[in-house]
Amino acid sequence: MNVIYLDNNATTRVAPEVVDAMLPFLSENYGNPSSMHSFGGDVATSIKQARENIAGLIGASAEEVVFTSCGTESNSTAIRAAIESNPNRQHIVTTRVEHPAIKSLYESLSKKGHRVTFVPVDDHGRLDLDYLYDSLSDDTAVVSVMWANNETGVIFPVEEISREVKDRGIVFHTDAVQVVGKLPIDVSQTGVDMLSMSGHKFHAPKGIGVLYIRKGTKFTPFMIGGHQESGRRGGTENVAAIVAMGKAAELAKTNLDQDSYRQVGQLRDKLESSLLARVSHSMVNGERENRLLNTTSIAFEYVEGEAILLMMNEHGICASSGSACTSGSLEPSHVLRAMGVPFTAAHGSIRFSLSRYTTEEEIDVVIDKLPPIIERLRDLSPFWKEAMGA
Ligand code: PLP
Repeated sequence: MNVIYLDNNATTRVAPEVVDAMLPFLSENYGNPSSMHSFGGDVATSIKQARENIAGLIGASAEEVVFTSCGTESNSTAIRAAIESNPNRQHIVTTRVEHPAIKSLYESLSKKGHRVTFVPVDDHGRLDLDYLYDSLSDDTAVVSVMWANNETGVIFPVEEISREVKDRGIVFHTDAVQVVGKLPIDVSQTGVDMLSMSGHKFHAPKGIGVLYIRKGTKFTPFMIGGHQESGRRGGTENVAAIVAMGKAAELAKTNLDQDSYRQVGQLRDKLESSLLARVSHSMVNGERENRLLNTTSIAFEYVEGEAILLMMNEHGICASSGSACTSGSLEPSHVLRAMGVPFTAAHGSIRFSLSRYTTEEEIDVVIDKLPPIIERLRDLSPFWKEAMGA
């Protein structure tokens, strides 16, 4: 059975060109980039190229790009650096819908005495900007706002927020993990001080990330060790993955420059409108305009998301649900709760996330297979029967 992979916000396929680019660094090019000999020096040159490609994708200069192990490390490094560099300030401002990868850090920091403000969103997933600006004070060390939400795809006005925050002399960080390769980014045009990226979300392998640090930003390294990354992150470089991320950045840039990512949006729209038309009591979570082109979160009321996933899996269709089932609680996700999505809709929410490898044939299979699945599940659902007055 062919896999129809619509879970690209979880991770993406490694592009074949990326595999080709990285393989020599897992075999013959095994030198250490810090070595004095040219065998290592050649590897250092490849890292330099990768750094330039990534800088080119986000409008940064190469020295502002620091390689890390993943998006989580980039986020953690940024927030800790901002706090350590501003020891007289204890306050952190973020949103209620950040990824668990950074949300847990705030929980840990607030236990250690930091005051954390979680800015709410409305029922469309839009950030309450007045609440954010009103919460800023002389005690605020850092504001961190994700650029786009991984569950709904809703995009936050990061450029506008960064300008406001910078005017008050506060460090501004954004988790751009879901945005890289999907939207053009130009850090030179924003006040963003630090920005997190993750390779595996845009067709590089897992285990490689980047933290962009604007020149002049006060910074304390998280990983203290050797002189790698100009002393900003110790540890011998994960060369193959760095080269891979550089290649993935080059491909992403070409794709964005040629505007070919737009096709992903057309497929997403076809999937979304067809499912909404064929399945009654279904709706999109979050605003539809200002959204990543590849993402849709659809609520199918009165059914369990996990049951939908299992039945789609029988057809090889991969997506994800809006429940925090990893906790074993089957609680609706904190993002949908923050948006006030009703319980009966949040439980039946499915996130579909496409990539440039998604085909129209695959979308047609989902449009064909999913409506009867929902119908079968509703036939078994006491909530559905109750709602329908049966
Ligand atoms: N931030 C966001 C918005 C994400 O979607 C993810 C991964 O899903 C992460 C951070 C974590 O990235 P990584 O898996 O590279 O640690």
